[in-house]
Amino acid sequence: DPGRAWAMIVSRLSDGSRLVRLTDLSQLRAAEQMRADFVANASHELRTPLATILGFIETLQDPDTGGDAETRDRFLRIMLDEATRMRDLVDDLMSLSRIEADRFAAPRDPIDVVPVIEDARASLSQPIAVRGATLAVERETESTHVLGDRAQLVQLFSNLIANALKYGRADAPVRVRIEDGGGDLLRISVIDEGEGIAPEHLPRLTERFYRVDAGRSRAAGGTGLGLAIVKHIVLRHRGRLDIRSTLGVGTEVRVDLPRAGPLSSKSHGKVTQA
Ligand code: ADP
Repeated sequence: DPGRAWAMIVSRLSDGSRLVRLTDLSQLRAAEQMRADFVANASHELRTPLATILGFIETLQDPDTGGDAETRDRFLRIMLDEATRMRDLVDDLMSLSRIEADRFAAPRDPIDVVPVIEDARASLSQPIAVRGATLAVERETESTHVLGDRAQLVQLFSNLIANALKYGRADAPVRVRIEDGGGDLLRISVIDEGEGIAPEHLPRLTERFYRVDAGRSRAAGGTGLGLAIVKHIVLRHRGRLDIRSTLGVGTEVRVDLPRAGPLSSKSHGKVTQA
């Protein structure tokens, strides 16, 4: 395979014999390329709003162009929007690196996902929360506890509900279904009746900064990191993520998480302790 590159590492053992190991460099190279692309993308995403802000400051400083109060107000609003975008992006970048740093320690607190979904809805930023669509929680299983990290679960569902509202139809409700996921898993699905996603995009959605329609995503206040964060939270919880979508019909994102057993012996004994 001409695309592969091998490194040969030779060590001499104490008895004089030699140990030869082959390391696949193409994998290392691919990981290094991904890291470099990520830094380049993140820098570009931060530099664009920064350039806008600097441009408006210069205009405001110029007595010929930054004169009247109305113009100043308009410019300040744009600067505020751009600065907010930068803050959201930095917050998402920090979340992602924190979740990744913790990836080897699966969180194991018993958490009820029903109040988590309420908190996720309450945490949505204003422009998304007022999109108009309602959120309906459908509970089809008795115990709704999982093993997890509460703050990260709120973030996971807040990102999914935000997407369902951003890319969904304003007059159709977003549904969150909680059901048995088979095995020791609880399945939580976030379902919208929005524009849907073409099949060729589905495998790439969880890549950092991958967007189907960049203009639309930015206009809706998206950082392009939402689903990357979702994927890493699910991975850290040893769960499963499955995104299904039909163009023109809608999108369903299924999250399977390890269930927690009942907290006290008085509750129902149907669920096995993971
Ligand atoms: P963003 O911040 O751009 O929303 P995400 O990582 O959350 O970034 O999502 C990546 C892209 O996937 C979005 O830009 C959008 O094109 C698409 N997408 C995500 N969720 C949905 C959805 N529910 N319906 C349609 N498209 C979606």
